[in-house]
Amino acid sequence: MPDWRKNLRDVVPYVPGEQPKSDNVIKLNTNENPYPPAAGVRECMRNMDISALRLYPDPEAGILTDAIAQYYSVDKDMVFVGVGSDDVLAMSFLTFFNSEKPVLFPDITYSFYDVWAELYDIPYERPVLREDFTIDADDYIRECGGIVIANPNAPTSLCMPVCDIERIVAANPGVVVIIDEAYVDFGGESALVLTDKYDNILVVRTFSKSRSLAGLRIGFAIGNPELIRALNSVKLSYNSYTMNLPSIVMGAEALKDDEYFRKTIDRIIATRESAVARLCDLGFCVPDSKANFVFARHESVPAAYIFDNLRKENIYVRYFPKPRIDNYLRITIGTDNEMDVLFEALGRVVNSYKKNKKSVDI
Ligand code: PMP
Repeated sequence: MPDWRKNLRDVVPYVPGEQPKSDNVIKLNTNENPYPPAAGVRECMRNMDISALRLYPDPEAGILTDAIAQYYSVDKDMVFVGVGSDDVLAMSFLTFFNSEKPVLFPDITYSFYDVWAELYDIPYERPVLREDFTIDADDYIRECGGIVIANPNAPTSLCMPVCDIERIVAANPGVVVIIDEAYVDFGGESALVLTDKYDNILVVRTFSKSRSLAGLRIGFAIGNPELIRALNSVKLSYNSYTMNLPSIVMGAEALKDDEYFRKTIDRIIATRESAVARLCDLGFCVPDSKANFVFARHESVPAAYIFDNLRKENIYVRYFPKPRIDNYLRITIGTDNEMDVLFEALGRVVNSYKKNKKSVDI
């Protein structure tokens, strides 16, 4: 075998949800926002001075960093921005998790965490979620190399109270606790309030979900200035110009229209609550979602069967063939019309399975 093969960094990559090429699909598989970005973003794109693209962007993404700091009422030295929260999280793993002790995150959570740990050779352990998928804070009150908790958790959609997060942060002053709040705007309780009080908590957020800007790739972290300085040092040792100019400018613009932001969130929450009721009527069991998706299991129809049959009708939801969750579907909340199409198909798929089963049983 040639030497270069022996020296490859051998990784099993994260598998993102499918991005189908056709427009003719109901896409409820990657937790995108079904509504367009704020009108100001379109205007901003139209008015962009193309000649500005000749120049490298500001490595500090100052316009965006300032806008985020102002929006969340924190100092700008408490804000770090990156190419989606995936970039911010990956950079945080690289920056903060350099201990021999294991980093802790739940057995069921965002499946990128173990990929980054493997990529950077970070030891990790995965405390098991309770049977009802809630997180037991006591599992994280122990010696470790760091902690990562998605809150609301994905794909379970469940939210952990901030008092439990505070207990974990306070009990682990020697390590960094990352709280991934990708979905918090949809009804979760934010840990941002803890960033003034503790120097070891980093709250990570994204523009991909609640701000309808997955395509621009904007994520950010808020934490103690020392944490942010460390993140910037690692980032500047890696790639100075991660944030492109259009993303910097349009991201800052998106923050200006709070009315639109709240309106679309309220709409998604209302659609989610009606979706939960409709799912229950069809025989699904659905944990209490605080996200822009639900995690549902049918009482008698296997999730893989539903997933395959919805896909045949060009309706994409997410299915994870993994221990403990292989009978669940993660369904992103779409527009009311998209949900109507989904429920029409779901009703048919569930009934056809039951009918077939009955004829086999006879
Ligand atoms: N955290 C969680 C829990 C997620 O589900 C996602 C979306 N895949 C991300 C972070 C990353 O989102 P983005 O990189 O688009 O900001």
